[in-house]
Amino acid sequence: VLRMESVRKAFGGTVVLRDVDLEVAPHTVTALIGASGSGKSTLLRCANLLEDIDDGAIWLDGEEITDPRVDQDVVRRRVGVVFQAYNLFPHMTVLQNITLAPRRVHGVPRAEAEARARDLLERLGLGDRHDAYPDRLSGGQQQRVAIVRALAVRPRLLLLDEITAALDPELVGEVLAVVRDLKDDGMTMVLATHEMGFARDVADQVCFLDGGVVLERGTAEQVFGEPQQERTRRFLRRIV
Ligand code: ATP
Ligand code: MG
Repeated sequence: VLRMESVRKAFGGTVVLRDVDLEVAPHTVTALIGASGSGKSTLLRCANLLEDIDDGAIWLDGEEITDPRVDQDVVRRRVGVVFQAYNLFPHMTVLQNITLAPRRVHGVPRAEAEARARDLLERLGLGDRHDAYPDRLSGGQQQRVAIVRALAVRPRLLLLDEITAALDPELVGEVLAVVRDLKDDGMTMVLATHEMGFARDVADQVCFLDGGVVLERGTAEQVFGEPQQERTRRFLRRIV
């Protein structure tokens, strides 16, 4: 679904991603782990063309999206993104938040967009909250609405950046459960996370980033069970 080859990204003189290769197979979950500042968010932002890359190339479904001739808006419509802070529009109800992009950007008729939204909300355990405003929802509920909103345009790929980082510990579980359900439904996802237990549990592929380099990658068993690099071992010892 997603392929990155020799991606390099610098801000000013600081290289943040160097020579990053990444391959994400359909219906798999890739977890990006690594210390703060290692480049996880930047990698996700590059994958969605929120940042221009300085070198290398990125493919989505076989199409090179870093080709300057590609319409970036079309690409972004095929990739759903959820960030740490939920960013719901506070003056809109749950249903309005979710149906905005399908209606405005994708031209889905209102009735159909709403039916789809209700269906997704039901599946994520929010069936009775369509008319609520975001400030009436718990953090976990808001984050689940943000996930529904990302799913509402039926993306090919979902990018999740620390989606539980802003949540109280007792609300983390409900959001992670949603990610697990999406995986069971076959959604392709790349997520940056500090929740190592979760990454180990849900990820098919784990990439350890260190100073903008993918220092180690493999299955969850490989990276967590038998890390090959001393730096990975040190990182995991500190975290767990
Ligand atoms: P965290 O775990 O704290 O979220 P991260 O792995 O997501 O960290 P990034 O946010 O990708 O790390 O940042 C990687 C590096 O890039 C950091 O050194 C950061 O300061 C730098 N950086 C990120 N965005 C910008 C920007 N817009 N301008 C300049 N430097 C940036
Ligand atoms: Mg980050």
